Amino acid sequence: MDLYEYQGRELFERHGLPVLAGGVATTPEEARAIADRLGGRVVVKAQVKVGGRGKAGGVKLAEGPDEAVARATDILGMDIKGHTVNKVMLTVTADIAEEYYFSYLLDRANRTFLCIASVAGGMDIEQVAAETPERVAKVAIDANAGVDEAKALQIVEAAGFPAELTDQIVPIAVRLWQAFVAEDATLVEVNPLARTTDGTVLCLDAKVTLDENAGFRHPDHEALVDQAAVDPLEQRAKEKDLNYVKLDGEVGIIGNGAGLVMSTLDVVAYAGEAHGGVKPANFLDIGGGASAAVMANGLEIVLSDPAVRSVFVNVFGGITACDEVANGIIQALALLAERGETVDKPLVVRLDGNNAEAGRAILDGAANPLVQRVDTMDGAAQRAAELAAAGV
Ligand code: GDP
Ligand code: MN
Repeated sequence: MDLYEYQGRELFERHGLPVLAGGVATTPEEARAIADRLGGRVVVKAQVKVGGRGKAGGVKLAEGPDEAVARATDILGMDIKGHTVNKVMLTVTADIAEEYYFSYLLDRANRTFLCIASVAGGMDIEQVAAETPERVAKVAIDANAGVDEAKALQIVEAAGFPAELTDQIVPIAVRLWQAFVAEDATLVEVNPLARTTDGTVLCLDAKVTLDENAGFRHPDHEALVDQAAVDPLEQRAKEKDLNYVKLDGEVGIIGNGAGLVMSTLDVVAYAGEAHGGVKPANFLDIGGGASAAVMANGLEIVLSDPAVRSVFVNVFGGITACDEVANGIIQALALLAERGETVDKPLVVRLDGNNAEAGRAILDGAANPLVQRVDTMDGAAQRAAELAAAGV
C-alpha cells in the first residue's frame, strides 16, 4: 500500500524524523484554517500517489492565508498524471539551500535491502540517475545487521554528503531505517532531504510503501487505506476473504489457484478479440478446497458486477475433486436463489482433473438452464466470450 505524502510525513514524525509542521485539507477553507494556524509563508502540496507533482504544478508557495486559499483552490481538483487531487497538504516552508535524495527499499533482484542516496536530489533525480549514475550511491543493507551509526556513516561517505551535516544525517539515516523496519515498509523515500539556508537538514517529502502482507502486525495501518479509492466490489470481496480484483471487462472469472486464474484471464482476453473485444471482468481465486459457501460468495460478488455478461468458472480438480466442485456450484446457485439474488447470467463451467467425469455428470444431471458445460479451457473461454458479446 502506497501512502499519501501527508500520511508519510506523520509516520516520519512519529519516528522522530525532522519534518515541518503541517496539516491536510480537502477544501480551500480548511486550507485557510491550517495556514492561519501555521502562520507566515506556507507551501501547498497536491496529495496524489504519483511522483513529479512539483513539475506538474502541484507544489506552490503561498505568502499567507489568502494566497494559501488561492493556491489550494488551484490545486484541488487538478489532474496529475491521471490522478485527481482531492487533498492538499500545507506545511510551513523551509528556505532550501540544497536538495539531497535518500531512500531505503526492498531490493528483490538482489534479495536484500538497499539504501540509495545522492547529493543531487530534488526534482531531477531520475535524470541524474540515468546520466550521471556515479552521483547516486547504492549501499546494500543486511537485513539482520540493519543500519546502525557505523552503517549510517558508511552511507554518508558513499553519497558524499557534506561533512558538516554528518551529525544530522547519521541519526536521520538510523531513524529512517528504524521506521522502515518497525512499519514493515518496502520503500521509504525522502526527496528532497533538504539542507536549509541556516544549515538544518529536513525531510521535505515522504514517499512510503507499506507491505500489506504484514498488515496483521499493524492494525493501525488499516486506517491509512484511502476508502474513497477502494472499489466497492473489492471491499465486499475482502470482507468475505476472497482474492478478488476488479478489472474492466465483461466476462466474470472464477477459478481455483492463482496461476490457473491468471492464465484464464489471458485465454479469455485472447478469445474475446474475436467477439467484439470482450475482456475478463475480474480476477477471483477461490483457492483449493473451496466449499459451496465459498463458491456462492464468489458467484455473488462476480454476478453483482453490473459489467458482467457471462461467467467462466474454470476449475482444475486437485485436492478438491471435481464432483465436490460441481455440487458446490449447484448448491451455490440454490443458495443465491434462497438469499434472493437474481441469477440470470450464463455460467460456462469447465471441470478437469480429479474426478472430472463425475463432476460433469453432476452438472448434466442438475440441468440448470444457466449452466453450460464445456470441457476444454480454450473452448470454454470461447463460449464465455461469445455469450458476453451476445449479452452486451
Ligand atoms: P514531488 O515533485 O512530487 O516529488 O514533490 P516534492 O514534495 O518533492 O516537491 C517538489 C519540489 O518543491 C521540491 O523538490 C522542492 O524544490 C520544492 N519544495 C517542497 N517543499 C518545499 C518547501 O517547504 N519550501 C520550498 N521553498 N520549496 C519546497
Ligand atoms: Mn519529491
